[in-house]
Amino acid sequence: MSPVDESFFARDFPTFVSHLECGLEGDHYPADELHGLSKAGRPLLVRYNLEAVAASLDKQALTQRPAELWRYRELLPVRRSANIARLGEITTPLIETATFAAGSGRVWVKDEGRLPTGSFKARGLCMAVSMAKELGVKRIAMPTNGNAGAALAAYASSVGIEAFIFCPEDTPEVNVREIELQGAKVWRVNGLIHDCGKLVGQGKEPMQWFDLSTLKEPYRIEGKKTMGLELAEQFGWELPDVILYPTGGGTGLIGMWKAFQELQQMGWVTGKLPRMIAVQAEGCAPMVKAFEENQQHAEVWENASTVAAGIRVPAAVGDFLILRAVRESNGFACAVSDDLIIKAQKEAAQKTGVLICPEGAATLAAYQQEIASGRIDKQESAVLFNCATGLKYPMPEANRSLDRHAPIDWEAMRL
Ligand SMILES: *Cc1c(COP(=O)(O)O)cnc(C)c1O
Repeated sequence: MSPVDESFFARDFPTFVSHLECGLEGDHYPADELHGLSKAGRPLLVRYNLEAVAASLDKQALTQRPAELWRYRELLPVRRSANIARLGEITTPLIETATFAAGSGRVWVKDEGRLPTGSFKARGLCMAVSMAKELGVKRIAMPTNGNAGAALAAYASSVGIEAFIFCPEDTPEVNVREIELQGAKVWRVNGLIHDCGKLVGQGKEPMQWFDLSTLKEPYRIEGKKTMGLELAEQFGWELPDVILYPTGGGTGLIGMWKAFQELQQMGWVTGKLPRMIAVQAEGCAPMVKAFEENQQHAEVWENASTVAAGIRVPAAVGDFLILRAVRESNGFACAVSDDLIIKAQKEAAQKTGVLICPEGAATLAAYQQEIASGRIDKQESAVLFNCATGLKYPMPEANRSLDRHAPIDWEAMRL
């Protein structure tokens, strides 16, 4: 028996995209054409004929499909199977952990570090690159804090699209080298991610590339949306009480909220939806500030700095969509200190065996902090997002060594 159901990828599926819609103004745009931002300069959201999806797909049929994100084909934008860029986007595990001595509700880590290129950026980029291929794009550019660039490089190489990638100069070495090895052209830039984004904008004319920046094209959200679809299915279509999401550009939070609403409209999820909690670092918390000040948009965060590089995003084009999801879901936005992030990462690794990245650790720190503050109830069930494998990040030194020819002091080993 073949371990992978290749016939699933060999055939085409009915697709249900009806149009695209400006996330702010609500005006419509035709599907099957290349789009960046809306006329108002805001992200475009993909809309489906959800009634037709519900009529064409049932929950039982889903269980027979490969355990990868492409199982949700009817709720995804790619029209032709031949355009799918695929490197094994597996369903990621939910690891139930001890509750880290914080609450009494059940807590799971959704471990996204198992995805291709070691982070959940794979979800967004496999979709964006597949759509770029479908719409005839030959050259792509993107700013990145690291993981998105790595995922873009991998998927672009897999389908023969050229990729140009710009990173802040202090992007972790492992990410920059990974991008290079995966065949993209990568530059370190003396600035932060939004400065890199400006370069991508400036290069559009002379370089004729397509801008794949977070939320500046419509399809990365659709890829990240699969986190919400997957969670719903894994939880038997009854969602947990709270979801803690480390928020940078916010694609995942926006995507999951969109998934839950679509499932609700299809009648697949009937209970209450989770409270969405946007977690940021104290050194870069524009969404927290805007949330607390009751703003619809966030101001640029000056001098952004945190150990959690993936959420060091001083300005997000989808700020209003993040804030809308947080408010509609009755959630909130909160910030944690770098000290608590580092402490939480160590605690998870040493008490539960789960090696999470600093951004993932931020969600654990936030969970503990907000149980203490009372904003999360002790009894609420919670999902913490670990968005990348801890193995891609700097680790503490380990400098004990042993001379096997010398007498060994066994007593000293225990100290
Ligand atoms: C990109 C990234 C984030 C932030 O994700 P968004 O959906 O862009 O907010 C968090 N953690 C890691 C490890 C990332 O790479």
